[in-house]
Amino acid sequence: MKVTFLGTGTSQGIPIIGSKHPVCLSANSKDKRLRVSVLVAWDNYTYVIDCGPDFRYQMLRAECDRIDGIVFTHEHSDHVLGLDDIRPFYFKQGNIPIYAHKRVLKSLRKRFDYIFATKNKYPGAPTVITNRVKNKSFKLKNMKVMPVNGLHDELQVFGYRFNDFAYLTDMKTVSDKEIEKIIGVKVLVINALRIDSHRSHFNLEEALQFIDKVKPKKAYLTHISHLLGFHEEVEKTLPENVFLAYDGLEITI
Ligand SMILES: [Zn+2]
Repeated sequence: MKVTFLGTGTSQGIPIIGSKHPVCLSANSKDKRLRVSVLVAWDNYTYVIDCGPDFRYQMLRAECDRIDGIVFTHEHSDHVLGLDDIRPFYFKQGNIPIYAHKRVLKSLRKRFDYIFATKNKYPGAPTVITNRVKNKSFKLKNMKVMPVNGLHDELQVFGYRFNDFAYLTDMKTVSDKEIEKIIGVKVLVINALRIDSHRSHFNLEEALQFIDKVKPKKAYLTHISHLLGFHEEVEKTLPENVFLAYDGLEITI
């Protein structure tokens, strides 16, 4: 299985428009972060987790010319706003399967009413096939996927486990019962926003404590704010098996 980090930044991305913060001005490409998303590929299948406002450019940059579906974590704008840009895939492949909690599907229906229209649909609009995710395992082709339930402040969010890989973002609270589902994965991706605490995201310390509970072989941090600091400097402070993800990073599991 191959995982490609399409974006590793928090909701505004890095650099933030107009910001003079040193991290936003950094010349290191690892300090430039689009909104969070990953491509998960195995056999001949390719799925995207989340589809934020940078989706079009992320697909071009990753040279991705086919997707088998999109799996959503939650409905915040930085995770869903690119849905219109599935059009090139829709024109080539037909209706695109999406997977999400029923509340997220409802939100997508409201935001993208024209995509879900059944009467007088604009011919250029894409069509999706909705699949409701409940907190129990489901299949994507030949892969069993296990949702991991958490809270983003008070909003329910799903992370996902694909075999030895788990991807959790926008988490602030995860119960021990849910953590059980990912104990011992080889690779864990978890959100770490910044050094200071935040009401809806793990900060660095909380992310490291979470990694300590899950005990993966390797962990990668994502959904990173400029306030976490420079990539090079932060990485030096991390435990041996913990890394900062960066846009374009590919890992094989
Ligand atoms: Zn987010």
